[in-house]
Amino acid sequence: MKKVLMTTAAVAAFALTAGTADAAMKKQFISIGTGGVTGVYYPTGGAICRLVNKGRKKHGVRCSVESTGGSVYNINTIRAGELDMGVAQSDWQYHAYNGSGKASFKKVGPFKGLRAVFSVHAEPVSIIARKDAGIKTVDDLVGKRVNIGNPGSGTEATWGVMWAAMGKKNGDLKLVAQMKSAETPSALCDNKIDAFFWLVGNPAALNKEATTTCDAVFATVGNAAVAKLVKEKPYYRWATIPGGMYRGNPKDIKTFGVGATFVSSTRTSSDTVYAVVKAVFDNFKQFKNLHPAFAGLKESEMIKDALSAPLHDGAAKYYKERSWM
Ligand code: GLU
Repeated sequence: MKKVLMTTAAVAAFALTAGTADAAMKKQFISIGTGGVTGVYYPTGGAICRLVNKGRKKHGVRCSVESTGGSVYNINTIRAGELDMGVAQSDWQYHAYNGSGKASFKKVGPFKGLRAVFSVHAEPVSIIARKDAGIKTVDDLVGKRVNIGNPGSGTEATWGVMWAAMGKKNGDLKLVAQMKSAETPSALCDNKIDAFFWLVGNPAALNKEATTTCDAVFATVGNAAVAKLVKEKPYYRWATIPGGMYRGNPKDIKTFGVGATFVSSTRTSSDTVYAVVKAVFDNFKQFKNLHPAFAGLKESEMIKDALSAPLHDGAAKYYKERSWM
């Protein structure tokens, strides 16, 4: 109603301000959805924003990071237009684009506007248990108190797929906890849960916290049901958590996993995505130094591996300029 009463003068003043801002510089604020603060998504968003903001005088893009519930939340919120970009597991990027895999994704149908930007680090399925819980492999979780991931996390969604593939129901656990990732090490060390399950890059601050505070140990994940998943699904692969990376876990841990990917949508302009991608790859050495999980990253793999949605135009433009495509 108020809008109808806007006077001619107000309209003129409004048009003038908008015009001035436009002329000064196309200032553009973007937010990146990540995960819990002690995971790897949050520092990944931080690293990207840091490089973007360094060049903000040139391109006008101001970047900020949001700690969120994780992959599924990020994809849904990008779809709703409330986040511009986000980090998401490659399995849920695939399912969101195709409208498959999860009841909520099937219900809303394929997210055809979803766009891949680049892939980042590998995310092995990680089961971290109390030393006294007797959990050596994923099969030992039956009858235990387990944190399966908070709603909205890629973790919880992938748990559902893996556990069902093993022919199990959540009722086969003694306790199903759904705390946010950041809360799990203290719950484990305080003996409120026997183990927590999640998918995360390595090294992760949270895993360090659990293994240094209370001698937590990793379990292996490689039974027949998991082998079948890896064989049949393009977004799963075998993975290893290197021995010696975490205190009290000297041996390599065999598991499977996905890739972390950086995504956006057709709602975010080509110029904006171009500026973000350029900030990362023009400063790639610096980017890799911003988190130890980035140590093995290679440009040639990041622009194609683990991506199932089409590349965003703004990203493709930069990759072509570099003759990578
Ligand atoms: N892969 C996790 C998820 O989507 C988040 C991992 C992280 O925070 O680094 O639930």
